[in-house]
Amino acid sequence: MMNAAKREHFKRLLLSELQRHAKHISEEQSQALDVANDDAKESSDLALRDVIQELALKLGDRDSQMVADIDQALMRMREGSYGICIRCNQPIDERRLEAMPTARYDAACQAEMEVLKGQKAGPSL
Ligand SMILES: [Zn+2]
Repeated sequence: MMNAAKREHFKRLLLSELQRHAKHISEEQSQALDVANDDAKESSDLALRDVIQELALKLGDRDSQMVADIDQALMRMREGSYGICIRCNQPIDERRLEAMPTARYDAACQAEMEVLKGQKAGPSL
């Protein structure tokens, strides 16, 4: 189980990722993200969720997919399942989360799924 300090660390990573992807974010929304960043209370999480959903609507497909991934990661954080592989329930390596804070799978499952995907697409030479 991830402790509160670790969770806060990854939450900040996720929020800075969010700001990076939301380049045409308005001043007001940017401030809302900063407030959420400073305050881990539930009410600010809800406000954050509004901001994220509004953002997702304004962004293009690629960015909004990223925003949706970040939103999901924050939701898993609230549910206490952040950092746990959704396929095998094993904790995801923290170095992996550092590199990809929205990761839903551990490295083993990710690799397995890529193999499966490759098989579905047919053998490549
Ligand atoms: Zn797994």
